[in-house]
Amino acid sequence: MPENPKYSFVVPAYNEEKNITLLYERIISLMNHYKDSWEIIFINDGSIDKTIEVLHKLAEKDKNVKYINLSRNFGHQAALSAGLKFASGEAVISMDCDLQDPPEVIQQMIEKWHKGNHIVYARRQNFRKDNIIKRLGSKIYYRIMGKFTRIDIPKNVGDFRLADKKVLAEINQMPEHSRYLRGMVAWTGFKHDFVDYKRPDRQKGESNYTLGKLAKLGMDGVFNFSMLPLRIGFLLGLISTISGFGLLLYQIFDVLINGVYYHLYKWLVVILFIFMGFMFMLFWIIGEYIGKIYDDVRQRPLYVISEMKNFE
Ligand code: UDP
Ligand code: MG
Repeated sequence: MPENPKYSFVVPAYNEEKNITLLYERIISLMNHYKDSWEIIFINDGSIDKTIEVLHKLAEKDKNVKYINLSRNFGHQAALSAGLKFASGEAVISMDCDLQDPPEVIQQMIEKWHKGNHIVYARRQNFRKDNIIKRLGSKIYYRIMGKFTRIDIPKNVGDFRLADKKVLAEINQMPEHSRYLRGMVAWTGFKHDFVDYKRPDRQKGESNYTLGKLAKLGMDGVFNFSMLPLRIGFLLGLISTISGFGLLLYQIFDVLINGVYYHLYKWLVVILFIFMGFMFMLFWIIGEYIGKIYDDVRQRPLYVISEMKNFE
């Protein structure tokens, strides 16, 4: 058995025939700075171009290059999860194939890892070329996420990051199907730091993240890490019940004091308001149970230990 490499690069690739060799060369010139062993794990996520042929050729030539060929397109997060499962390095760097995650940033990530950080995120500084909808969307999104979730999911980071094998061991144990990896990594709570960088444009080919896919990823982030949407029923119920009762009291006093006559339907409307409030409340209660079930079926570990002392 060969020894485990020190660094693993994990790169999902969907229709990246033109980028693979470019990325490979960049990583080679990066790794020339180090004496340590390394591997690149490409995950071919059901590409319909020549990605697999390129990978095959490369892997024949260089044993540091490994690939996992998925049977069809499973999506970025699934592909990345597959790669992380098989990465055997001490430090695992996940990155995109399209050179939007410049290998040069990795040098700084490695430095911060050596300083004792178990997670090093690359944080984007510019959104210049992204279209306005993507930019605005991401701004609003992080705002909402910040308010809704209990754990701190860092802003403006994607899946370009370095994670210690300790972190990976936790992630690989999480069997949840709907995966929002950056959230899961943050969830582990290990010591982390950032490297800021300017994100260049995609080298070759088209972005595979359509607005639709991006929206789905964003929803996964909110729904996987927050029970708040389930609690909207509580708020609506409260508003509806209180306003119903308010209106009812108003009508009663109006009748008693001013002797105003109220038609039956007006009484029905306010009573309906009150019952609608009860119904929203019921939804909320059901939501709380669903939330608990969801928490359980996800089977995340109860806690994550970062260090122990004086145990045998
Ligand atoms: N990707 C993938 N499966 C998909 C879509 C994308 O493995 O279904 C890969 C893609 O090859 C790239 C990374 O995920 O390495 C990020 O995709 P992309 O560059 O399209 O996203 P963007 O940078 O525009 O957010
Ligand atoms: Mg990209």
